[in-house]
Amino acid sequence: MLKTPAYAAADAKSPLAPFSIERREPGPRDVLIDIAYCGVCHSDIHQARDEWGGSIFPMVPGHEIVGHVAQVGAEVTGWKIGDTVGVGCFVDSCRECAQCKKGEEQLCLKGMTATYNSHERGSGAPTYGGYSTRITVDQDYVLRVPAGIPLDRAAPLLCAGITTYSPMRHYGLKAGDKLAVVGLGGLGHMAVKFGVAMGAEVTVLSTSESKRKDALALGAHAFAATRDAETFKTLAESFDFIIDSVSAPHDYNAYLSLLKADGTMVLLGVPEKPTPLAAGSLIMKRRKLGGSLIGGIRETQEMLDFCAEHGIASDIELIDIAQINDAYERMLKGDVHYRFVIDSRSLAPAA
Ligand code: NAP
Ligand code: ZN
Ligand code: ZN
Repeated sequence: MLKTPAYAAADAKSPLAPFSIERREPGPRDVLIDIAYCGVCHSDIHQARDEWGGSIFPMVPGHEIVGHVAQVGAEVTGWKIGDTVGVGCFVDSCRECAQCKKGEEQLCLKGMTATYNSHERGSGAPTYGGYSTRITVDQDYVLRVPAGIPLDRAAPLLCAGITTYSPMRHYGLKAGDKLAVVGLGGLGHMAVKFGVAMGAEVTVLSTSESKRKDALALGAHAFAATRDAETFKTLAESFDFIIDSVSAPHDYNAYLSLLKADGTMVLLGVPEKPTPLAAGSLIMKRRKLGGSLIGGIRETQEMLDFCAEHGIASDIELIDIAQINDAYERMLKGDVHYRFVIDSRSLAPAA
């Protein structure tokens, strides 16, 4: 086993603190990755605080991992030492079900193996995420990070990037569509970038008036403050597509009222409590409400290549691991611009 420094939550009430984990020695089909950076997703907070229930402790969060291949198993094809690679929200799946065969491993009928807060198939050992210095991953669940994307700014693409790219493709966002992005955080700011790149006319709907300037700098065509009730009157029935990335409970009906007839709203945020939905919000204008969960390996690679082609990367604030608990508190206040990324060198023991 490979003794590896990490940061973990001991239980749902404790702040993250230094912890030591054991990574498995790479098997014949495994790749050992030296982690360079790991993004901080709001899902890390939900799970470290057991807001969704069933969390496995101690927990080492982190599923926006980028780094370099340090070692490969004897049967590994396609990866060599030194390759720049990424790992997203899952590290395994059954590989045999209809969803896995379609390349939608995140929807595996037997359940994907999440990068952390999950159990390895076979050994049953707990999985630990990217708030650590290295990780052993099966070769089929590794992504290639194109050279053109700055590595620290590439990390958030592995979750925030694919989670916003995939629904735009799946639900068919079209050039010229009027797109609203609700919540300008890690997911939201990537949704703005992808929406603009796909030719949509993008409006940011935010609780933070202070993000107006940033929204426009990110490429959005308009900004509207959702704390202002007038916004819901002025923008009623004006969007073809809404991406909702809000992490806390909020009134879906109010946002649905902003869709045109036949418009689509996609939920990405996973608030800890359910929200009532009025049937009329959908029925009266034949609107659609959908959800989306990250994306499969093939589509994640497509998204990374799309980013390289379109000059897209995440806007980040680089932090040392010691700042992680403060970063969580800032995210809970919406004070994120627009993804915290951990510099993994801060986890390595002092030389
Ligand atoms: P984040 O960076 O913290 O951004 C969330 C944003 O939501 C905040 O910046 C804020 O934006 C807005 N917000 C927060 N509280 C709000 C409230 N009470 N009312 C209205 N708006 C509020 O979080 P993230 O990492 O982007 O993740 C967002 C959500 O998506 C989380 O629930 C996360 O677990 C989930 N997620 C889902 C998937 C998936 O596959 N579906 C993948 C990753 C993450 P403003 O300041 O602009 O209002
Ligand atoms: Zn995530
Ligand atoms: Zn499967």
